[in-house]
Amino acid sequence: MDGQFQRAGFTGVTEVHGSAHHLQCLACCGDDIWPADGIDLDVDPETMRARPPLPSCPHCGAPARPNILMFGDMGWIPHRTQRQLETLRAWRRANTDVTVVELGAGLAVPTVRRQAELASAANGALVRINPREPEVRHGRGVSVPCGALEALRAIASRLAD
Ligand SMILES: [Zn+2]
Repeated sequence: MDGQFQRAGFTGVTEVHGSAHHLQCLACCGDDIWPADGIDLDVDPETMRARPPLPSCPHCGAPARPNILMFGDMGWIPHRTQRQLETLRAWRRANTDVTVVELGAGLAVPTVRRQAELASAANGALVRINPREPEVRHGRGVSVPCGALEALRAIASRLAD
């Protein structure tokens, strides 16, 4: 959602709740989604609100909003995420013996947990790293009840042995 995986060099990222680096029309004049490249918002540090000029829709001039799915959001345009999910589903069909390492995906919004379970369901395994909700209820998996950095450092250390 925040583009950090892409900045770190990952490709094929599925952004199940959209992207803060893409915009859509707030007035829903169409279903266009466009990159937010070059947009530099000026945020008032007192109010944490963006100051004008705000980004606008290139089609109708209405304000633009991030293409992110928010709680109770009926206006989110999902087609960019749907294409990413189709690519992920095709990848899952071709790769059934993968190990998924899931980091900090909780039960409150279980979308990522569900994707990890689906990806590891066939012949794979799930490593669920979560300090509060590490349980693996379906399929083969390992629960690691600690923070992501601590777990990844421990795994890297063991792999280096
Ligand atoms: Zn518009």
